[in-house]
Amino acid sequence: MLKALFPTLARVRFVVQLLMLLLLVYGSAIVGHYAAEKISGELPALSCAYDQQNAGYCILIPTQHQIHHRIGQGIVMAQKVTFGVFVPLIMTVLTFFAFFFVLGKMFCGWVCPLGTLQEWIGKIGRRFGIGLRRFEKGDLGDVKRVRPVKWVLLLGLVFLLPLLAGLGVAPHSLGNPYCDICPSRIATTLLTGNTEQLAVSTDDNISFTLNAIADLLIGFTLVGALAVRQPFCRICPLLSFNALFQRLSPMRLVKTKHAACDKCSICTESCPMDIKEISEQSGRKAYHEDCTLCGRCAEYCPQDGVITLKWGPFKLFSSSREYYKNKVKRELPDGTVKPVKIVKNAATPNPADA
Ligand code: SF4
Ligand code: SF4
Ligand code: SF4
Repeated sequence: MLKALFPTLARVRFVVQLLMLLLLVYGSAIVGHYAAEKISGELPALSCAYDQQNAGYCILIPTQHQIHHRIGQGIVMAQKVTFGVFVPLIMTVLTFFAFFFVLGKMFCGWVCPLGTLQEWIGKIGRRFGIGLRRFEKGDLGDVKRVRPVKWVLLLGLVFLLPLLAGLGVAPHSLGNPYCDICPSRIATTLLTGNTEQLAVSTDDNISFTLNAIADLLIGFTLVGALAVRQPFCRICPLLSFNALFQRLSPMRLVKTKHAACDKCSICTESCPMDIKEISEQSGRKAYHEDCTLCGRCAEYCPQDGVITLKWGPFKLFSSSREYYKNKVKRELPDGTVKPVKIVKNAATPNPADA
């Protein structure tokens, strides 16, 4: 029977064509408006939108329509996304690398407000005779145990949790967990007289915990800095972030081998990060990931030209015996400031004698 109805392929094709013609031209009258629209809209064949009966249209009309009417909106949206998201992001990354290229890890040793605060508090501690506690001397254990923490914080709090929160896997309140615990946020706002950042949010358990950690961290950092040099820097994720790129900058610490290095270790004693490698190693290994390029080791190395702060081929500062001798007259390697001698001016007349 089928063979009688469709003896040839041409006949099959004819029937299909007929059915499709009916569907695409009179579809809404036959199968209803909704079904016809769905069917004709899915077919990659011409189905005229101007035909009132078919209720559907081929892909070309929405394509033209979208290009015609939406392209402007698309450009505006693209501009919004470009200028609202990508340009600021690219500018942030580019400016970070531009500044980083010029200054390298000097941001830590010379620029960071929290680094500066910790250093100055340490000076107050030395001034009031609070004993310095070190990692390498054994009071606080081996510094190598602390070093991985900054990497864990960088990976976990700066990259992983915000990513998971962005993907909807982690709660929204974990969107910027590092900022939520950052002691610099509290320290710098406190310096402007703003105490709001000390407040602990009770919105949810996560915010409460993170804010409480921030308050504890700033407390420990400020008090701890009296006895331990740069306590927060040792676990700071920005230090590890900078360490990732430290070889990209021409700004670096260069140490040459010297016979005295086995015995002296004054550079490590003067180093606010207790970096042993600066006295024990030379070349690349001496410029350690924890180095903040503060330059103290170069100031306190008593040997000419052994430790140098360099920008590319240019020497910015080089250790010298002469500089060392003058330096230790005012401040010891551990940061203890020598008391200033007040010399009476014999020539000044006493008003009581008048
Ligand atoms: S390690 Fe962190 S807190 Fe310390 S100076 Fe660098 S950025 Fe600032
Ligand atoms: S202070 Fe100078 S000589 Fe002494 S260990 Fe350090 S680099 Fe070597
Ligand atoms: S190694 Fe030298 S420059 Fe680096 S943190 Fe220590 S003292 Fe500063």
